[in-house]
Amino acid sequence: MANPTGKAAAVEVRNLVKEYDGGRVRAVDGVSLRSEEGEYLVLLGPSGCGKTTLLRTIAGLEQPTGGEVLIGGNVVNGLPPRARKIAMVFQSYALYPHKTVEANIVFPLKAEGMKRARRAERARWAAELLGIGGLLDRKPRQLSGGERQRVALARALVRQPLVFLLDEPLSNLDAKLRATARDELKRFQQEVGTTTVYVTHDQTEAMGLGDRIAVLDKGRLRQVGRPMDVYDDPADTFVATFIGSPPMNLVPRDGRLVGFRPEHLLPAEVVPAADRVGVRLAVDRLEYLSGDRHVYGTASGIGEPTRVIARLPATVLTPIEAGRTYGFAVRGEKLRFFDAASGERAE
Ligand code: ATP
Repeated sequence: MANPTGKAAAVEVRNLVKEYDGGRVRAVDGVSLRSEEGEYLVLLGPSGCGKTTLLRTIAGLEQPTGGEVLIGGNVVNGLPPRARKIAMVFQSYALYPHKTVEANIVFPLKAEGMKRARRAERARWAAELLGIGGLLDRKPRQLSGGERQRVALARALVRQPLVFLLDEPLSNLDAKLRATARDELKRFQQEVGTTTVYVTHDQTEAMGLGDRIAVLDKGRLRQVGRPMDVYDDPADTFVATFIGSPPMNLVPRDGRLVGFRPEHLLPAEVVPAADRVGVRLAVDRLEYLSGDRHVYGTASGIGEPTRVIARLPATVLTPIEAGRTYGFAVRGEKLRFFDAASGERAE
């Protein structure tokens, strides 16, 4: 992978614990996780699950209660943020309103005592890489939200960090701009090759950006894996329902839960007969979304009667109406089983 900064370092946490309020809050509860050099690792989880705390502890902005943080194989506990060779971009990437884009970008280099000519050169390089080379003389108020966000990234980039730590950097952008910015961010990271740890609660963002996704809940790591693995083979019902929109259907049966994704619940005639598990679906509602039909109803015959959602692509032409019951099916190989009590996978 091309890496103009010439550098990338693995990031690792070992059995990391972070408590607040004298132990009353355990924000990070024994997390062990490693991102490889140049990897894009996404920390995903609901609000309050400890993502930001984990990132801030890696950055050195918080001291761990227990465990270790390693950057490039070296334990960095006790090292101040400046000495960690990381660059962090937050959700609220404050730019200096009265300084130009260039002055904003070079600010960290000025603080390090770098000479003016080298600073200007580095600013130009970072700005070109982010496609804002023509905006160096502007002030932040003369920029769009997406451009401001790129200035913040350029400011992180000029220090040529070993690791980028990004905390919901796209959350201030509207939905359309966010999709474009997400694509740009991914291409940019592939170009520079810097190890990136990215925090989000948005699973679409996580699936689109991450080489791997670490799913967190209540301070604990539930699963880490490639987007497709976390989606296809969730480790527990938390991951199964947190990832995927609509989420995985879960039907109780004999002390277990049978799980299947909405797109795998289809009219029986389009499911291969050799591997067909039948479901009676009493349909009560239909939605049309992005060309797909979302069919809401109560499933029976596969476990206890349970409300489920089926997602039918436009290629499935079977007429479906609310108020009627249909023969649906799932391919047996698409079923996932979970323990009803613990929520863990059970085969
Ligand atoms: P969000 O997506 O809402 O930003 P998060 O997953 O990033 O959430 P954290 O900000 O890491 O979550 O917070 C994890 C837990 O730790 C929460 O219960 C939070 O209330 C608590 N917490 C965070 N910072 C502090 C603090 N300084 N003092 C006490 N509790 C804190």
